[in-house]
Amino acid sequence: MKNLTCSLLTLFALATATPAVSADEEIVVYSARKEHLIKPLFDAYSKMSGVEIIYITDKAGPFLARLKAEGANTPADMLITVDAGNLWQAAEQGVLAHVDSKALNSNIPTHLRDPDNRWFGLSVRARTIVYSTERVKKRELSSYEDLADPKWKGRLCLRTSKKVYNQSLVATMIDRLGEKKTEQVVKGWVGNLAVPPFSDDTRTMKAIVAGQCDVGIVNTYYFGRLQKKDPGVKLALFWPNQKKSGVHVNVSGAGITRHAKHKAAAIKLLEWLSSAEAQKLFAGLNMEYPANPKVKPDPKVAAWGEFKGDDSNIAKAGALQRKAVMLMDRAGYR
Ligand code: FE
Repeated sequence: MKNLTCSLLTLFALATATPAVSADEEIVVYSARKEHLIKPLFDAYSKMSGVEIIYITDKAGPFLARLKAEGANTPADMLITVDAGNLWQAAEQGVLAHVDSKALNSNIPTHLRDPDNRWFGLSVRARTIVYSTERVKKRELSSYEDLADPKWKGRLCLRTSKKVYNQSLVATMIDRLGEKKTEQVVKGWVGNLAVPPFSDDTRTMKAIVAGQCDVGIVNTYYFGRLQKKDPGVKLALFWPNQKKSGVHVNVSGAGITRHAKHKAAAIKLLEWLSSAEAQKLFAGLNMEYPANPKVKPDPKVAAWGEFKGDDSNIAKAGALQRKAVMLMDRAGYR
């Protein structure tokens, strides 16, 4: 509670410290995307447009609770958050507004945005297989489902099922395979675990490097970060499910709040974030793939090779999230 009060006071102070400008010359953003990933974009936009962007960062869950509690009194115009599961929840809980924008509709592919245009993916991350180049041959790998095969017994490492990234992955599997088959696969994964699930993707990869296990499932940008620190790391990414559904892809993205006070200005910012100019930076800062298909990924990201991504609408990651959570629980995936 103290934190919330402090942040609100800070926001109020920031807002009142602003020289007299028309209401549309400032925008308030709640961002679950970390400061170092958004500040350079906001700085560039402010410089170009003269619009001031006031932002605070926190986790997705607290922001959603806060937007609901604040209701019509929220100072926030825009919510930036990660994972379609979180974006879907925000839309479902009624805190986001419909936005009809030609620019957004043309810059962001249909499968990476809400069918009702309440949120838009701005960067793409693949949740894919990572493996030890010392103990696994690429040809041994094929699909997420295959990681349930007994040949991986005692060789698999996973991150906790509490993380929305895994809930979204399993939700899309339910959509594709049905609940029964998905549960068999998840049970198979649990049976193949070398050690209990980790709290994050980086620990998962470090366990593979340390020889605790041989394969895992991680978001591509975490691999990018590790590779940046240790260019010789004996790990590689593998693109599964290439013959059928494609690699599970997810987004970080944004929406305009239902009670935005600077709606027109916030939409302009969102449109700019989807533009070719901003997309390079938005994706590049976190070693992700641009959501705008006209923009090429950073060369370091492109070096991981091309892949076929799942191009069905990512909104289902949210719609099937509850089922995914219950299924993982039944399967003993902690
Ligand atoms: Fe992440």
